[in-house]
Amino acid sequence: MDIEASSIKLRNKIIDLSKKKLLISNLKGSEQEKDLLLAPNCKGYGRIKHFRRHVNDEWVADPLPIDPVCKGLGHLRTDMIRAQVFQLAGCNFRCWYCFVPFSLISGNEQNASWLSPGELIELYLDQPDPPSIIDLSGGHPELAPEWVPWMMKELTARKLDDKVYLWSDDNLSTDFFWQFLTDDDRELVNSYKNYSRVCCFKGFDRDSFSFNTKADSKYFDRQFEIMRRLLKENIDIYAYATFTTNSTIGIKKKISHFVDRLADLDPNLPLRTVPLEIIAFTPVVNRLDHQATIAIKNQFEAIEFWKKELEIRFSSEMINKSIESIPLRDN
Ligand code: SF4
Repeated sequence: MDIEASSIKLRNKIIDLSKKKLLISNLKGSEQEKDLLLAPNCKGYGRIKHFRRHVNDEWVADPLPIDPVCKGLGHLRTDMIRAQVFQLAGCNFRCWYCFVPFSLISGNEQNASWLSPGELIELYLDQPDPPSIIDLSGGHPELAPEWVPWMMKELTARKLDDKVYLWSDDNLSTDFFWQFLTDDDRELVNSYKNYSRVCCFKGFDRDSFSFNTKADSKYFDRQFEIMRRLLKENIDIYAYATFTTNSTIGIKKKISHFVDRLADLDPNLPLRTVPLEIIAFTPVVNRLDHQATIAIKNQFEAIEFWKKELEIRFSSEMINKSIESIPLRDN
């Protein structure tokens, strides 16, 4: 898969620059709908997600986006937070564990509509109790990096920038943030107060990355290059990592090397990184072959080595710090 070429092709299918619109997935009737706790909202173009700190005792806690949002908006710390999610209808990876059906990340107009950021915010506001987070998800939102500053402008125009936290995902595959945004838009993203981005490492080494995404293993290294550039920006950055792998041979060393590579980007980045437990949601079930089934089991071996690596490298005081207060070198 040529990620560069497919990313540009997809970008052209999911953003309309002249009309300032984005192709947003409609979840009604999709396989993803079966996994939702609440029916899709915003006429099918959105969903309410409950982010929970504790899901499985055998995994690590997930403080994202809970802690950064509570700090940013001055809310009391909590273990669950609701977010309004919108999904861009394109992604350049094909992770077997993706909880979104591939038909909703192919830039296909059949399952999506063209909506402006203003229309998305109107849909968001038109509900009894809008959550305090808007999560720009996908798909890969950074195929259309304009989405973030466009939303920021719309929230500010409605005086919602102090009340609503903007959160966005990034699969670390494209440099469109620098390629397509104007200096002014990048400056806005860098200076906007209530915004954070979470970047997802799709594996802990080249092999697990390729196994997970079906992309060439060289793009695993590219994830680090893009993260290095992002860390130089003034964005509040976090990372996710997925540990599914079809082989546990040498896994202790591989996880250790992964932590080395994160720490090479920033000594504290491992503490801003949250491993994500992969769960077989409905769209995943059809993709579950023997290797994927094993990979779901293997992630539990990997997480134990991850926990040990952090304990070796950081004091318990640092490990227990709230994630948004972990300092990064350049911020
Ligand atoms: S990068 Fe995210 S949206 Fe894209 S296929 Fe992988 S899990 Fe799905």
